[in-house]
Amino acid sequence: MNEILVGKVKTVYETAAPQEVIIRYEDKVTAGNGRKIDFPEGKGRLCCEISSLLFKLMEKRNIKTHYISMPTNTTMCCKKVDIIPIEVVIRNIATGSIVRQTTIEEGTKFKWPMSEFYLKDDEKNDPLLTTERIIMMGYNMEDVGDMELLGKEINLILQNIFEEIGLTLVDLKVEFGYDANNKVLLADELSPDSMRLWKDGKSFDKDLFRKGEGSIVDAYQYILTELRKIL
Ligand code: 5GP
Repeated sequence: MNEILVGKVKTVYETAAPQEVIIRYEDKVTAGNGRKIDFPEGKGRLCCEISSLLFKLMEKRNIKTHYISMPTNTTMCCKKVDIIPIEVVIRNIATGSIVRQTTIEEGTKFKWPMSEFYLKDDEKNDPLLTTERIIMMGYNMEDVGDMELLGKEINLILQNIFEEIGLTLVDLKVEFGYDANNKVLLADELSPDSMRLWKDGKSFDKDLFRKGEGSIVDAYQYILTELRKIL
């Protein structure tokens, strides 16, 4: 299979079908823009399986995604999309960059989920965007509005699902892409690599690796086992 793109933790391959790609989830984790790196065994399978369950859940709730199928336990067959280089972050509780960059206190619970946009560009350190910057970058307001609304809907669906397994969804990052008909689809992944999940004051997400506080494989396995019971 020919590689189309080698990401930090996923590799995208072309397939015989021109409108489809295979995405392989690697046994790899990075943080701090790739400065911290590890290769935990089984991590690719866990993120692939969790993402697959959650993409299928989104489709059931009428959120259009790039997901087609999971041919092996570390690969996903997906619709080919043109990734929009804007990361949509939705926050329910303040932690991470919002606490470092503002006067909002750690642990502040937002009455309504808040949304933010970041440029997906490691070289520029993923800076915070404004609506006007996004428009000047050439994206139209309707698509930006769609991404914000979809982000909030996805957040609500995930909040409820994780609540069922005793986890609090603190925040998440989602990415979107244009399909062949220029429709906006949820793309990338839906895994604990790109969201924060708390249970009894403990993290069950990539913060364990970012902060060196424990095994992400154990935490991700716990999430997968619990999700399988209800999905
Ligand atoms: P923060 O802005 O506080 O660092 O991150 C907010 C949320 O978005 C967290 O759940 C974090 O995991 C996710 N996030 C932000 N940027 C990225 C990114 O570049 N990659 C991944 N995987 N997640 C991100």
